[in-house]
Amino acid sequence: MEITRRRFLLAGGAAAVAAPGLAGLAAGRGGVELDPREDAVWVASAPEMPYVPRFDGDRKVDLAIIGGGYTGLACAYYAKRFRPDWKVVVLESHGLASSASSRNSGAVYASYVGESDPDLADAGLARLRTFIEEEEIDCDFGPASTLMMLTSPGAAERAQADLPTGARFVSAGELAERAATEYYAGAVAPPGYYHVQPAKLAVGHARAALGVGTELFAHSPALTVQLGRPARIETPRGELVADQVVIATNAHTPRLGIGRYSMFPVHQYSFATRRLDAGELERFGLDRWMLRFERSTLPVTFSVTPDGHFFVRLVLGYASHDSCVWPDLGSARSLAQRIFEQRFPAVADVGLTHGWHGVTGHTALFKQFSGPIGDGNVHVSAAYNGLGIMPAHNNAYLTACRIVGYDEPHVRYLTGVGSQLPVPGDFYRSLVLKPFMRLMTPV
Ligand SMILES: Cc1cc2nc3c(=O)[nH]c(=O)nc-3n(C[C@H](O)[C@H](O)[C@H](O)COP(=O)(O)OP(=O)(O)OC[C@H]3O[C@@H](n4cnc5c(N)ncnc54)[C@H](O)[C@@H]3O)c2cc1C
Repeated sequence: MEITRRRFLLAGGAAAVAAPGLAGLAAGRGGVELDPREDAVWVASAPEMPYVPRFDGDRKVDLAIIGGGYTGLACAYYAKRFRPDWKVVVLESHGLASSASSRNSGAVYASYVGESDPDLADAGLARLRTFIEEEEIDCDFGPASTLMMLTSPGAAERAQADLPTGARFVSAGELAERAATEYYAGAVAPPGYYHVQPAKLAVGHARAALGVGTELFAHSPALTVQLGRPARIETPRGELVADQVVIATNAHTPRLGIGRYSMFPVHQYSFATRRLDAGELERFGLDRWMLRFERSTLPVTFSVTPDGHFFVRLVLGYASHDSCVWPDLGSARSLAQRIFEQRFPAVADVGLTHGWHGVTGHTALFKQFSGPIGDGNVHVSAAYNGLGIMPAHNNAYLTACRIVGYDEPHVRYLTGVGSQLPVPGDFYRSLVLKPFMRLMTPV
């Protein structure tokens, strides 16, 4: 059966009917979005994603996972390792890991946005590192020299007076001389950051999940999810009935009709230079600090990739109806170009060649949205508030622990909808978030 956009829109619209009595499962306007996605700069230097088929026919499984990014693939991997006798299936609406998991900035830090327990974050980082080592994933994982860029003299003064342990203050003069920018009032160089090549890590996740015997399906969207025991998932080519379900759709979750008052997507745009050789990187002052985070209300990140592209990532804002498609990529590109020209004029001149869009999932209190919903056999793990590489992997592990009943103390952090401050509906979000984010755009 040929899948057309119209068919998806119709099927998505039917979701409300397919989930009787559950307001939380009424799909967002238009339902699941199947727009094409351009590759991020990372994809060209990563190995090819393993080929996996489309889901076809009617099946009954022990565990169905919706979403094939880091969360979905890692959850499948751990669940199958815990229960080799289970049938574990992942449904991905597009190509595997083609959303945030292959288009992020690659910064990894032992921190959970919204959770202050250092044990949770340290254990999460150790788990990701062990996974990379055990599965022998070549993903350029390692420590990353980092700068927290300060935009005002006041902020620089405060930072200098209150330096965290192990951090160093970098003056505006040193930045001008060694970091290709006269825009900033100073910076703090903190320890503890790591870097990873996101697309290579994503391919590693897919290979690992296949290696333990899970079944992965691409271009196979879940159109509706009917809660119950078992739960029922409608796809374009058949129905999947599952005892346990994991919703691993991150920013796309509200479009599936889940968590619409708990989380919302925020759009990002990244724009990279052509590949610079070692001599150019040194000449432009890009050979010294790999990650550069600008501290502003809508944070801007700059980064040098291991193979020599320099890129900016900026926040675009909110699009109505929880849409994960940004309506005007041309303007996003111009905005990124302006930010580059202001901060790194010499580098902007070499030409920006690779642009890509992405979405992150956010909540009102910056807490992840993870835990059981419905009858307790449907589990969500989403909304990492922009810093999700490690938390996505770790929450996937914790979710798998919860599902198989494995005693792991950090499972207590998977608190579901209960711990979320409700976010206002789409109308108010559009009214407030759109102008606020436009106003806060740092150009
Ligand atoms: C531009 C950008 C920069 C970022 N930078 C960083 C960073 O430097 N450090 C960091 O830690 N984090 C960063 N993040 C966040 C991080 O990438 C995410 O938190 C993480 O990838 C989330 O993984 P995930 O698997 O939960 O979600 P995703 O990778 O978004 O995967 C969800 C998957 O679900 C699929 N899906 C959606 N709907 C359906 C459906 N109905 N049926 C089937 N499948 C569906 C989607 O196609 C997608 O592949 C960044 C994100 C972006 C966008």
